[in-house]
Amino acid sequence: MAKGHKYCINNLLRLEDIRVTEVVEEVDEDVVVIKVQPRKEKEIFCPHCGSKHLYRHGHARPRKVLHACICGKRIYLKIQGLQRLKCKHCGRTFTQQLEI
Ligand SMILES: [Zn+2]
Repeated sequence: MAKGHKYCINNLLRLEDIRVTEVVEEVDEDVVVIKVQPRKEKEIFCPHCGSKHLYRHGHARPRKVLHACICGKRIYLKIQGLQRLKCKHCGRTFTQQLEI
C-alpha cells in the first residue's frame, strides 16, 4: 500500500502518537481494521506516581477497539506492541496507554 494512503488515515483519525502499520479491509463484513503501534520516541510515565523510571516488563496482548463508524463501515483499531511496564519508584505494573 502507498505511503500516502496511510498518512491520510493518520490525519483522518488524528492519531498523533501512534503509527499505522497496516490497513486491512474486510469487504464482506464492512469492517476496516487499522493496525497500529505506539511511536517509540514517546516518553512514558507511571500513571500511579508520575515517575519516568520504568522497567520493561514484557508486551501486552494486542487490543482491538471499535474506533468509529464511517459510511456504514466499522473501523477497528488493532493496537499492537504495547509495553507492559514496571515502575522503579512505586513498584506497580501497568500497560502503556495511548491517548486516542
Ligand atoms: Zn510509579
